[in-house]
Amino acid sequence: MTSILTTVPFVDLQLQHQPIQAEINQAIQSVIQRGDFVLGKAVAELETNFAQACGVSYGVGVATGTDAIALGLVACGIQPGDEVLVPANTFIATILGIVDAGAKPVLVDCDPEAALIDLQAATRLVTAKTKAILPVHLYGQLVSPRQLLDFAQAHNLIIFEDAAQAHLADREGYRAGSMGLAAAFSFYPSKNLGAFGDGGMVVTNNEAIAQKLRSLRNYGSPTKYVHTEPGTNSRLDTLQAAILNVKLPYLEGWNRARNVVAEEYDTLLLPLKNQGIIPIKNQSDQGHIYHLYVIRVTDECNLDRDTLKQRLESFNIQTGIHYPIPCHLQPAYKSLGYRVGDFPVSEALSRQILSLPMYPGLTTTQIQQVVTAIHTVLKRF
Ligand SMILES: *Cc1c(COP(=O)(O)O)cnc(C)c1O
Repeated sequence: MTSILTTVPFVDLQLQHQPIQAEINQAIQSVIQRGDFVLGKAVAELETNFAQACGVSYGVGVATGTDAIALGLVACGIQPGDEVLVPANTFIATILGIVDAGAKPVLVDCDPEAALIDLQAATRLVTAKTKAILPVHLYGQLVSPRQLLDFAQAHNLIIFEDAAQAHLADREGYRAGSMGLAAAFSFYPSKNLGAFGDGGMVVTNNEAIAQKLRSLRNYGSPTKYVHTEPGTNSRLDTLQAAILNVKLPYLEGWNRARNVVAEEYDTLLLPLKNQGIIPIKNQSDQGHIYHLYVIRVTDECNLDRDTLKQRLESFNIQTGIHYPIPCHLQPAYKSLGYRVGDFPVSEALSRQILSLPMYPGLTTTQIQQVVTAIHTVLKRF
């Protein structure tokens, strides 16, 4: 009986690219004709356009979001031994970026409702070595800029944003990338603004930091064949930049479409609240750009997250888990010395969260199909 239902995919990038295929082909052809494949015109254009969209003065394109964090922190003056406060529930690349920069990640628990860094918990972890706080705007929602700025000022810390999931998100009048000293973005294909491969960018209002980054990403070379520091090769590819330039003007519309999908989910899921199904809280209205739409299958629910996920698959509903293992329990970072029980909220969330299909173009019928399937699974159990 379930076989007659068409699959609801977790993401559908084709839906986004098909209508602008001709524009993208044209942009790619232009790069081929110019032949400026490395640090070409399209890279400089995207840097200007994207920084402007964020309401920030400078953008520096790099190879990945991970490099944007690592090189961005170095350019902001973070040094080996410096401590950086960071949420325990984030994608592992956040931690990787801090470690790559030579700094020490100091993990912080999150609040259970919005799943964002808990600034009260962070206060207790500030030491003489703490230099920065690295908030992650998880799932497309900004950490409260006002609270963040107060926190950073009180402890004399740099704010460096991980905005990899938050292109053009806003809250309290601040846009992603504009509240700190600098911010990192990723253009991984499935992000709200995604390339046809890897890509990243650091945005900042500080000219010296932008200049330092242009050198760091290009062999530590401010001028050709003059190497003033040990940099690396981490440039945003020109073809990717050309594609991103085509996509950028559509981003606001796509984000709006995601917001509408989220509102439909919110409404349809409301009756399931007393059965323990609770969406991650939106504390920023239309400013939330819903990179992911995440629900919690709480302990009040009559079945666990993994069972629900599995049953939904049999109804052809694809879902994800972001993320199933919190960073402090990842084998790769054992040396940080954390153990089970250190971050109870993050650990509980990792067992409860489920990401539902979310992308611009997801139809009302598909959203209904997802929620009906959840209803049916809960009833049958
Ligand atoms: C995607 C992502 C990154 C890493 O970006 P890459 O481009 O894949 O290196 C970092 N932090 C968060 C929160 C992300 O979602």
